[in-house]
Amino acid sequence: DELVSQIAAGEVVDRPAAAVRELLDNALDAGATQVTVRLLGGGIRCITVEDDGMGIPPEELPLALRRHATSKIRDLRELECVGSLGFRGEALAAIASVSDLSITSRTPEAAHATRLDARSGELRAAARGRGTTIEVRELFFNTPARRKFLKTEATEQAHCLEALRRQALAYPEVGFALWSEGKLVEQWRPAPRQQRLADVLGEDFVAASRPFEWEVPALRILGRLGLPEAARARADLQYLYVNGRFVRDRTLAHALRSAFDDVLHGQRQPSYWVAIDINPELVDVNVHPTKSEVRFRDSRGLHQQLRRLAVEALAQSRA
Ligand code: ADP
Ligand code: MG
Repeated sequence: DELVSQIAAGEVVDRPAAAVRELLDNALDAGATQVTVRLLGGGIRCITVEDDGMGIPPEELPLALRRHATSKIRDLRELECVGSLGFRGEALAAIASVSDLSITSRTPEAAHATRLDARSGELRAAARGRGTTIEVRELFFNTPARRKFLKTEATEQAHCLEALRRQALAYPEVGFALWSEGKLVEQWRPAPRQQRLADVLGEDFVAASRPFEWEVPALRILGRLGLPEAARARADLQYLYVNGRFVRDRTLAHALRSAFDDVLHGQRQPSYWVAIDINPELVDVNVHPTKSEVRFRDSRGLHQQLRRLAVEALAQSRA
């Protein structure tokens, strides 16, 4: 069974940044307004994620670590319209199977916090305000093959920072901070969306990009497309979200690329930030364990719509 859970863990977490992403998802699902991530050794030695969300009642702490246990959906029907970032109930169990994990949490009603040590199963009283702290020590200590494939601490930290950036760009109303070896690396205060984009992607990108927005019932598409000047600042800036989740999607990436090709011929790498909010029943998020792929019911229609919007926004900027 330990082998089974380690194999499953391999699908969910392949490096510290993947654990950071899952822990951030959980903090955001818990309604946090401030999330703080602390790393030691690029996240390999220790990742701590603290939030001020709703917390976990002490009697539910052991459940949080059980495989396929989620508090976010109750049945198959709810799987058809997932509104939260998590729903598979895999992440904490997976991370706990390849690390030394503890959860310290306190609900608003609780008189004190409770800490659960995953390895020993021991529960004890602890001190903290409302919210949850998850501490992950010695990631992959028991899977040497995986540990061997990690890059330098600096590289792993850079990936963790990118995971934080992706979430910060989707949740401007939430404050984020990243600490490493006890030093503050990056901090984004709650801000209006445009300000958050500038804070995370740089004033240069915002200044050299075209916004667009389009809405019909059950679908809203919001974005900013970088002009060639923006691409010079940073070419690999491609952020695509579906219902607050950072995703990779070939169809939508193609729609954007072909719009850039059409209007700005020969631009090497389009840069963009695009957020699609769609009725959850029209998209399947349960495609892959990492939840970074989705399937749309009408992917062709969405491709056309996004391409049209992007062409309009880019053409306008040339006129
Ligand atoms: P999922 O997010 O898919 O439900 P996880 O393994 O990530 O699965 O988390 C398991 C459960 O633990 C969640 O359903 C939630 O009830 C609880 N949980 C995890 N992290 C937090 C947190 N930061 N705040 C509140 N509850 C949490
Ligand atoms: Mg989760």
